[in-house]
Amino acid sequence: MRIRTQCRSCGLPFRETLTRETTTLLCPGCGEPRPVSTTAWSRDDPRHVERCLICDCKHLYRQRDFNRALGCLLVAIGAVFVPWTYGLSLVVLAGVDLWYYRQLKEKVVCYRCDTVYRDADPSPRQGEFDLLKHDVLKYGKSWQDVDLTESG
Ligand SMILES: [Zn+2]
Ligand SMILES: [Zn+2]
Repeated sequence: MRIRTQCRSCGLPFRETLTRETTTLLCPGCGEPRPVSTTAWSRDDPRHVERCLICDCKHLYRQRDFNRALGCLLVAIGAVFVPWTYGLSLVVLAGVDLWYYRQLKEKVVCYRCDTVYRDADPSPRQGEFDLLKHDVLKYGKSWQDVDLTESG
């Protein structure tokens, strides 16, 4: 499982590969060790994580590796050819854009520590990003109006 995380001690973002046997994560910058959970993995699927392996937070969300710059570029190309194609280029490239978006693999991200699980397949429980949930977990805002039993 390839991950991208950030050192809590020196703030260095780095990439690492974790296995079920990994118990400690060392920062390549300052050497600060962090315990890695071995029980947060899904029991029957090695591509699922139940909880964050780094901070044990059980709130994770899914995110697509979407390259926004490329998406905008495609639409811009479509716009350039509008005078010659009577707007058809825009339709075609919007379609390409959508197709490209659908091809992208989803990854799983931890709400609390922002660790990205690049090889993880999101479980049905791991929904789209929820800003309210993010603020509650990150900045300790009130749990009022957040139904956690519903959204997992
Ligand atoms: Zn560090
Ligand atoms: Zn986490």
